[in-house]
Amino acid sequence: MSELPVVIAPDALPALIEFLHSQQLMALNLTADANTWRALGARVAQGLAAAGVDVKPILLAGDEVTPDEQTIVELLLGAGREQRPYLAVGSGVITDVTRFASYCTGNAFICLPTAPSVDAYTSTGSSLILRGLKQSIYSQAPAAVFADLDTLCAAPRPMIAAGFGDVVAKYTAVADWKLATLLWDGPYDAAVARRMEVARDRCMAQADQVGAAQPEGIHSLIDALIEAGLCMLAFGGSQPAGQSEHYISHYLEMKLVREGRKPVLHGAKTGMATVIVARYYQQIGAMSRAEAGRRLAEARRPDRAQEIERIRLAYGSLTDSVVAEQAPFLDWSEADYDRLKQRILDRWPEVQAVAAEVPSPAALTDLLQRAGGTADPAALGLGDEEMALAEVYGHYVRNRFTAMKLSRVLGLLA
Ligand SMILES: [Zn+2]
Repeated sequence: MSELPVVIAPDALPALIEFLHSQQLMALNLTADANTWRALGARVAQGLAAAGVDVKPILLAGDEVTPDEQTIVELLLGAGREQRPYLAVGSGVITDVTRFASYCTGNAFICLPTAPSVDAYTSTGSSLILRGLKQSIYSQAPAAVFADLDTLCAAPRPMIAAGFGDVVAKYTAVADWKLATLLWDGPYDAAVARRMEVARDRCMAQADQVGAAQPEGIHSLIDALIEAGLCMLAFGGSQPAGQSEHYISHYLEMKLVREGRKPVLHGAKTGMATVIVARYYQQIGAMSRAEAGRRLAEARRPDRAQEIERIRLAYGSLTDSVVAEQAPFLDWSEADYDRLKQRILDRWPEVQAVAAEVPSPAALTDLLQRAGGTADPAALGLGDEEMALAEVYGHYVRNRFTAMKLSRVLGLLA
């Protein structure tokens, strides 16, 4: 597939102007909030006006914009009926509401990230909260991304640390993808997995420079985040970028929304959750084939009714949709379960090789801390009890086979 143009430069404005001229895009809507207008929007609007581009700013109200119905309507009212492509000047939320509004009105959008905080810039889905429920709505990828390095380096440090956490998550995401390919089903794309690993490792090597918001470090960070989005686009699924660590994070996020609590940055949660999943990989990596065999011999297929009860306990009003999502793991027969157990035993050396690719919890904690983040849930305002629930029940969020599903078969997870 042809990949969208991505420019990362200390000053991305000249490249943006050149792109607009080459595409003959001379009239645009520009979405921002007060913070991102100050950080980048005003300079872009001024530069584009000087280059003969007609820019209509749409400033979203409030200090913290929520990706909900109210914001979307506000944006559409600001845009009016005139058809214009959009420039999204902001981080995750502004990008997502602009992605959605531009898609619904049949316009393209161009992405100008203001913080290296998430890997969703190059995604096709808009992460929105509709009727209080967090969901990803299919919309469209941007026509191009222009990352202004000077702006990204000046982003709030917690947003930078969160972006790094979302790259740390690629350790367990890629490992889970390989595990599922070995033990459950495909599809898998080795070239895409490799691309993700290369960008991740380049960013990890810059952990200290990311923590100090040095251009070199921030460049490797935004590059890895954009690459993650492109890998998802190329593969056609989130497998390269988000697996069991993301499900733990999603579980917590839904709980926070439900309880009307202050949100925690996506990447701060996924980075912290990566350390949790790494503990399971560590146990799997240290387990002999004989021990795995003993544990598999004792493993009993989870009872469907009991499983649904567990889901009800953890997910409440969302039970029906979670049960539907989990169908492959609720409907399996004794024979299916035995086949899985046999496959785990037959492929134990390969399983251990995958586990060995995940750094130790201590090493991951060190990486997060060097980049200014944390592996401590309490530091993110999350309690022990809800963390235990997320660890045990997070895997029900999606129907993928992951380290957490394997850990249940092996009796490592309740
Ligand atoms: Zn993520």
